[in-house]
Amino acid sequence: LVLALAALALRWRVHRLVHRQRQLEIQVHERTCELEEASLTDPLTGLRNRRYFTEHIDTDVAWAVRRHDEARRHGRPPTDDADLVFVLVDIDHFKRVNDLHGHAVGDAALCHVAHCLQGALRESDTLVRWGGEEFLIVARGLARAWAPELAERVRRSVHDLPFTLPEGTEMRCTVSIGFAAFPIGPGQPQAQGWSDAIRVADAALYLAKSGGRDGWAGVV
Ligand code: GH3
Ligand code: MG
Ligand code: MG
Repeated sequence: LVLALAALALRWRVHRLVHRQRQLEIQVHERTCELEEASLTDPLTGLRNRRYFTEHIDTDVAWAVRRHDEARRHGRPPTDDADLVFVLVDIDHFKRVNDLHGHAVGDAALCHVAHCLQGALRESDTLVRWGGEEFLIVARGLARAWAPELAERVRRSVHDLPFTLPEGTEMRCTVSIGFAAFPIGPGQPQAQGWSDAIRVADAALYLAKSGGRDGWAGVV
């Protein structure tokens, strides 16, 4: 009887230990996922960050290039979903918001603009906080001819929804937008990389700024 009881106690103990080990493994896995997610997220706006972009862009580019190459081999025009569109969005005169209302209100205004932009996009688009008061949209499955419509929708989404200041008054934010389609030259999809398309979008953004802001320019 003593031996049987001892064996039973041992089994129970082993069972407890195995159970505890499984629980720890699950906790470690969950924590790893959380940390991974946090490293790809901008803490202020909750949007994707630049690191997320660099981890995913090569896959998107490879897909676009493949679709264009296939179309060319078959002597067909590329399908509508073969393009990527890069849209750079920069808040206008944002320094003034900080200077007039303080950094905390500036932060809230940034979140407000992020929310407006998110509302103008589709599930398949990626919205990235690119830097300070700049955002990057990567639109997939959008034929380049539609890029101006997207830019206008984005511009309007910010222009049309005022931001409420802490004291209750409303303030209107605007953005300037530059966009570029990828591949830049559809006949030679491998000739330029995504960073070239971003450079083109940046030059277009500069044009929108010098053209009076609250507007867009782009290259398709
Ligand atoms: P422009 O229309 O030419 O873009 O003018 P701007 O004032 O928006 O441009 P500028 O680049 O001179 O200023 C950007 C400002 O954005 C300066 C910086 O303090 C502010 N900014 C950048 N990141 C943050 C942030 O995370 N929070 C706050 N509150 N401000 C930020
Ligand atoms: Mg800027
Ligand atoms: Mg700005």
